[in-house]
Amino acid sequence: MTAQRGGLRGRRRPRACPTFWLVLAAAVPLWAASPTVKVRVGSAVLDLPLERYVAGVLAGESSVFRSDAALRAMAVAARTYAIHLRGRHAAEGYDFCATTHCQRVDMGAITPRLVSIAEDTAGELVWFEGKPAFTPYTRDCGGRTEDAAEPYLKGHPDVYCARAGTETWQWDGDPVTIVKALAGSGLRAPQRLEGITVVSRTASGRALTLSLVGNGETVRISAGSFRFAVGRELGWNTVRSDLYEIQSGGGRILFQGRGAGHGMGLCQRGAEQMGEEGRSYRDILAYYYPGTAVGITARGLAWQRLGGESVALWTTQPERDGSVLAIAERESRRVMERTNWPWPAHVEIRIYPDLDSFRNATGEPGWVAGFTEGRRIQLQPASVLRSRGVLEQTVRHELLHVAVESRAAPGEPVWFREGIVAYLTGPEARGGPGTSPAEAPARRAHGEARRAVAGLVGRYGEATVLDWVARGLPPEVKNSSTSQAATKSR
Ligand SMILES: [Zn+2]
Ligand SMILES: [Zn+2]
Repeated sequence: MTAQRGGLRGRRRPRACPTFWLVLAAAVPLWAASPTVKVRVGSAVLDLPLERYVAGVLAGESSVFRSDAALRAMAVAARTYAIHLRGRHAAEGYDFCATTHCQRVDMGAITPRLVSIAEDTAGELVWFEGKPAFTPYTRDCGGRTEDAAEPYLKGHPDVYCARAGTETWQWDGDPVTIVKALAGSGLRAPQRLEGITVVSRTASGRALTLSLVGNGETVRISAGSFRFAVGRELGWNTVRSDLYEIQSGGGRILFQGRGAGHGMGLCQRGAEQMGEEGRSYRDILAYYYPGTAVGITARGLAWQRLGGESVALWTTQPERDGSVLAIAERESRRVMERTNWPWPAHVEIRIYPDLDSFRNATGEPGWVAGFTEGRRIQLQPASVLRSRGVLEQTVRHELLHVAVESRAAPGEPVWFREGIVAYLTGPEARGGPGTSPAEAPARRAHGEARRAVAGLVGRYGEATVLDWVARGLPPEVKNSSTSQAATKSR
């Protein structure tokens, strides 16, 4: 029960924690089964928490953005894209590659701003008819987005990127190099290429089919394959989009075009312009994916922030969950009074509107009431906690985790950290009507850690034991039989 995953803020604490009960829940949709994605970066396959992956995609795909609204819209689009296409490389043993084939990922370029943009929109998706939508995006649609099959991806004029001044480009290609590039992707071309013409175009004016002429022969090829092959071999700054005219002659082939990328879905240049004009990320997503709903569930619920003195509360139902903020404020004051520790900054609580969205975001089973990672506490719906009679206790318990984890000395054993939290939380409420077999070992380990700490308090006094959180355990405790027994029980 001590599965650890790499988190944003150091190691995750053991998953199972005390206020458990058995909640029999509806079947979890497949896409909600796990909050991590396997991403192949170079030769390594990384198991990334979903929001870390989103931050990595923002770093890889959104360097042009300045506005927060555009970045937020991209975070939601990138996350939805990932949920929709998860398992795309399953045959190779991972979900996504880190190139533009899937989404470009740049883990080394993640900034605190990108992390907080991902976290502010955590779990939010673009929904269509109750399912996560297909949400492609493009660097610059050139003034008109491209048609795709989905009803919310119909091509339309993009007034925003027209206003921003769409990018024009030209590329002067050498026929020999082009033939070599095509061969590199297994595409056939006339041996001595003399000219290229556009044979057919899409409704938005993008090249659809090209005709390659030379040696008295003609080869037809899709413009998309052509752009991909040339981009991969000669760089993506060559043929940047499919929106172009071609002039061939004098041993050169000249492409003159507008925009960048395939042109489908969200246009990044237009989104940036919308953001600069003061439109929200929801406006941006509604403009590029019309007819969809944005939210953490298919009902389109959105996070709202309620600010308190010690904690910030994120909720989708401020009227209903406002009282939890008052509880959290009171409990954090109690923790401070009891421990005499300064309160950590930027503590936040997220309350999910239903069990599915809680599991979708945390990957925790239904019998875990709350989950804390770093300074973020994630809770099941307040109504569920309240009906079990464990709301206040859960809030106190998770706040104690934040306090202990932000203070604990490096290498402080897990049993001691858990034990301190359990000891300070106070007597555990009875669980629900049934106890899941899965939670029993966690509950037992937890009880032992609590007893070990209570024993230490009896011997050394509470103030001394609390002091050890920041200082580390003294050697006589570290090497004691209590410590060994508690460690073994985990
Ligand atoms: Zn890929
Ligand atoms: Zn555009």
